[in-house]
Amino acid sequence: MPTWHRYEELRPDQLELLLKEAPIAHWPLGLLEHHGWHLPIGFDGLKADRICRRLADRTGGVLLPVMWWGGLGGHDVFKWSHYQDPKAFGGMLVETSRQLLAYGFRVLVLMAGHYPWQDVLDAEIPALRQAFPDALILAGTEISICGDAVTVRGDHAAREETSFGLALFPEQIDLDALTPGRDDTVWPGATPPPADRHHPRVEFDASAPLFAQMGEDAREASAARGEEGVAQVVDHLARTIDGFLGRDAS
Ligand SMILES: [Zn+2]
Repeated sequence: MPTWHRYEELRPDQLELLLKEAPIAHWPLGLLEHHGWHLPIGFDGLKADRICRRLADRTGGVLLPVMWWGGLGGHDVFKWSHYQDPKAFGGMLVETSRQLLAYGFRVLVLMAGHYPWQDVLDAEIPALRQAFPDALILAGTEISICGDAVTVRGDHAAREETSFGLALFPEQIDLDALTPGRDDTVWPGATPPPADRHHPRVEFDASAPLFAQMGEDAREASAARGEEGVAQVVDHLARTIDGFLGRDAS
């Protein structure tokens, strides 16, 4: 199995050695945000981190710490969400990416678990590709990073994301927490936001079990469904990276 390591744990000499063997940097882009009663608030970052780890098992390289600071998407109306200024986190994304490519990484994987990262990537990645024309920059969410080659569906904390979670970190998911009848006298986080901040497709009834979710019923999620999607994404990206680096398929 190829070698991968956590970026922050390596010494300079180890980094140079790894760069020769596998010049690939995997960077999971997440966010802390309410993801329904049944998923952890770091869901997007955990999902991206686990997919990157699976990919790194195939390709080797370094795994950067999850980018936990992000924003956009309209779920900041729910308690336990941390949205930051897009200029701030977009700047960190671009600057860090430039540094990684300048240090010699030839492949940069920007795996966004939080879907609105796509807007930032769409705005920033073309200039990055122009500045580093010899690098392969794979950027997007798990539903977009393979282009049309893989069809994986997404949602917010509903059937699709819950399926990914059941496949990748089942120990942090509690479907039994999807109980009806919560109210904000007992559950302070169940206060619905003002009507003018309601997203049209999000469940805002705090007493509904699927509160704060957007998509199909999370109670129909399955690990098998999530695993199928993850395997497709990882396989496609691993083949793309191996092809770019001219190595035998991993
Ligand atoms: Zn999510």
